[in-house]
Amino acid sequence: MTRLVNTFSYSHSRGGLFRDCPRRYWFVRYGAWGGWERSADPSTREIYRLSKLSNRYLWTGHHVHDRVERLVAKVVEKKPLPPEEEERSALLATLRSEFAASKKDRSGKASLRKGFFGLLEHEGRDFAISDTDWKPLVDRAQEALGGFYRSWVLPEISGLPGEAILDRDAELRTALLDVDGFEVPVHMKIDLAYRASDGTVRVLDWKTGRPGSAGEHESQLALYAWYYSRERGVPLESIRLGPVYLATRPERPEIGQIDPKRVAAVLEETVGTVREILSCIDDPVLGVARKERFPVTMRPFTCRDCPFRSLCLDRPR
Ligand code: SF4
Repeated sequence: MTRLVNTFSYSHSRGGLFRDCPRRYWFVRYGAWGGWERSADPSTREIYRLSKLSNRYLWTGHHVHDRVERLVAKVVEKKPLPPEEEERSALLATLRSEFAASKKDRSGKASLRKGFFGLLEHEGRDFAISDTDWKPLVDRAQEALGGFYRSWVLPEISGLPGEAILDRDAELRTALLDVDGFEVPVHMKIDLAYRASDGTVRVLDWKTGRPGSAGEHESQLALYAWYYSRERGVPLESIRLGPVYLATRPERPEIGQIDPKRVAAVLEETVGTVREILSCIDDPVLGVARKERFPVTMRPFTCRDCPFRSLCLDRPR
């Protein structure tokens, strides 16, 4: 059997993970590697299990994205959408069933079967939240899903031919970034991109939480613009990007052009982050990296929601 190799690659979220705490990055990218194998040592298996846990925000966001992706697929295939209430109920049923399964399997008592799922909040009192705190999250997720039906995007893409949809969160996209002669694959999952009737390419990011500060997601969107111009040959001036806040203001178009200088600056930042990560790794091609070369964060606040707390003896207190 061919053995998987943990060759280095980058994504915007991995960069954020490293900037938050290099040691946590090591746990996720290197410490967990191979932990799915039965022959792995118990410590690697435990790191792997912890790395697979989802927190409540990622969990609900993932399921909304998943359902919206399927709705967009129906639009592309010119099939009718299921009624909104039906979709909301189906989402609720999925969340309930996974919540119950996670509660039952908590703290690694279940084997690491394929498709293992667990919630960080079920990992003991360090992460627990009260039962009443779950309901607003589930309500928000349902609201976000319903927001797709009211969004300005739905009528716009409904009128387009199927081939105008360029991305819909279904495939991982990759572009190569040259960092000191090393071609680094930069991965991204683009929620929705399509060629609009005015000829522009619209690249959208579904948001299921509340709007944050302006420019919060700009770096991620700049990488998407870079990908579209580099890999798909779309000139930057023809690209319009922006978030769609599904739970709060889905009817409001918030797209705009991106300044090429901003894209260049984000690429420069990305190269800087990749350089920093590579300086900690022994062999980025073969995936060799020692834990001690990845410093722990100096900010105890960062450790609050870190699944590796119990294993991280050097963490700040
Ligand atoms: S517990 Fe803190 S220091 Fe340790 S890996 Fe997590 S975030 Fe980093």
